[in-house]
Amino acid sequence: MKKYYNTLIIGTGCAGYNAAYRLMRLGVSDIAVITEGRFMGTSRNTGSDKQTYYKLSLAGEDADSVREMAQTLYDGGGVMGEHAMVEAAYSVRAFMNLVELGVPFPCNEYGEYAGYKTDHDPRRRATSCGPLTSKYMTEALESAVIGMGVEIIDMQRVIKILTKDGKVCGIAAVSVYNGDLTVLQCSNVILCTGGPAGIYENTVYPESQHGATSLAIDAGASLSNLEEWQYGIASTAFRWNLSGTYQQVLPTYFRFHPMAKRESFSLILLAKDPLE
Ligand SMILES: Cc1cc2nc3c(=O)[nH]c(=O)nc-3n(C[C@H](O)[C@H](O)[C@H](O)COP(=O)(O)OP(=O)(O)OC[C@H]3O[C@@H](n4cnc5c(N)ncnc54)[C@H](O)[C@@H]3O)c2cc1C
Repeated sequence: MKKYYNTLIIGTGCAGYNAAYRLMRLGVSDIAVITEGRFMGTSRNTGSDKQTYYKLSLAGEDADSVREMAQTLYDGGGVMGEHAMVEAAYSVRAFMNLVELGVPFPCNEYGEYAGYKTDHDPRRRATSCGPLTSKYMTEALESAVIGMGVEIIDMQRVIKILTKDGKVCGIAAVSVYNGDLTVLQCSNVILCTGGPAGIYENTVYPESQHGATSLAIDAGASLSNLEEWQYGIASTAFRWNLSGTYQQVLPTYFRFHPMAKRESFSLILLAKDPLE
């Protein structure tokens, strides 16, 4: 471990590894990824019956466009227009990178990547390689990043982003093993610590997911694009969520039986829609 890095990336989920991968490809190699646990986090540990990856349509006769996909994202009301535009424009590049790294997204003999409609999606932009899609993505990105020689500083929980004159100058972390303090200097921090798992009483986030957005707030960062939130039906013991597709195709509705043990995965099929 050095004392100074150009950029420290916090988190070893898909976001952290992808940030490291992209920086290396752009020629920024004085970097390290720091994490409280390589095997922790949402990307590696959760999923749903079909975990969805969202990108521009790449199959069939759909007349999709970057502008239209950006509009769909913007219409949700939680994303700034230029962020929506960038997300749409780069979605193909990011997706194809994962394909090239070996993530097994389904593809037909003509090279089309099959798509389906996901929640309120006007096009078939969604695709999936099954319940473990984000796990496959994490593993593919991780082996690429390790292959590029990126240093991964494991078992260090970042507790503070250090600033001087309003600019980032380093991080402070404690060892998960023994609580020893480490201070590292850097010019940039990329925060990839996942969602706010801790704010829920019952949550489908894995127990290993703590989230650390407060590090940025504490360091004085201003936040935007955090309004969009997704709610759904999920189990809490076996941390899995129920996708919109299931809800659309099932003729009757599943819910927890009031007599069922709260943490169990017992879902009771009701004979009639309970909302009727
Ligand atoms: C049940 C469920 C189903 C989902 N289904 C879908 C889906 O179908 N499609 C979809 O697009 N998204 C889905 N999501 C959301 C998606 O999985 C997450 O948004 C994504 O995995 C987050 O990736 P990430 O890299 O940002 O964070 P994570 O994968 O959570 O990684 C966070 C990393 O930060 C580290 N970390 C956290 N705090 C600290 C700290 N203080 N110091 C050091 N390291 C720290 C963690 O150890 C971890 O390595 C689902 C989420 C859940 C919970």
